[in-house]
Amino acid sequence: MIKIKTAEEIELMRESALMVSKTLGMLAAEIKPGANPLKLDKMAEEFIRDNGAIPGFLGMYDFPNTLNWSPNAQVVHGIPNNEELKDGDVISVDCGAIKNGYYGDHAYTFEVGEVAPETKKLLKVTKESLYVGIREFKSGNRVGDVGFAIQKYCESHGYGVVRELVGHGLGKELHEDPQMPNYGKRGRGKKFVDGMVVAIEPMINMGTKRIKQLRDGWTILTADGQPSAHFEHDVAIVDGKPELLSTFQYIYEALGITSDEEDEFRAKKLTL
Ligand code: MG
Ligand code: MG
Repeated sequence: MIKIKTAEEIELMRESALMVSKTLGMLAAEIKPGANPLKLDKMAEEFIRDNGAIPGFLGMYDFPNTLNWSPNAQVVHGIPNNEELKDGDVISVDCGAIKNGYYGDHAYTFEVGEVAPETKKLLKVTKESLYVGIREFKSGNRVGDVGFAIQKYCESHGYGVVRELVGHGLGKELHEDPQMPNYGKRGRGKKFVDGMVVAIEPMINMGTKRIKQLRDGWTILTADGQPSAHFEHDVAIVDGKPELLSTFQYIYEALGITSDEEDEFRAKKLTL
């Protein structure tokens, strides 16, 4: 059952989403060659707790950490360890937090040092596909419209769209209805209405769409060992249109990047 949120709930969820955005922004400054994943995980946990929130992934289904830490060929659900980041890596960081009883859940794939041009392009296209999908998340459209748009965009670049893992409704629970696949058929699936809040999160592989799982029971990686990218935003439908609750602007501020990519999805200008 899809839980429709009131305007008040959406404002609370914006706080939860921004809690995660700030955490990713804090990490952005630390993500460089030589950085230790477990140290950054601890920093993220302390940052979230210091800001009056609770790490959303730590302990959920027995996950051992605050961050999902998925380098290079890992798609999602990687576990932070002592393997330091190297020049040329890409690292997908997914983070959740609970504030005021609501979940925020979003993710960004970072470049570490100098990354190969074809990998940079995978990251760029995957992030663009996120916005292509968000544009379809509006009243009257359906779940399949978002998936169709993301799939078409990524496949037009020759990339593999992961099937087994999907976006989801978001609220007092991390995973609510509806499921939000990154593939699909136009006009199919549940209809969108005002007050829906979802996490849209394309997981896109440079090569095959096929994946495998490590014996740790968590880590998902590409079947062909090629890189994968993952970008995730929390989005509500307000007045029929998609409204971003999360933001990458804290990351961009830390990295010295200027971007207006989020402007069309925000009724009011964001103040950091
Ligand atoms: Mg996530
Ligand atoms: Mg998610």
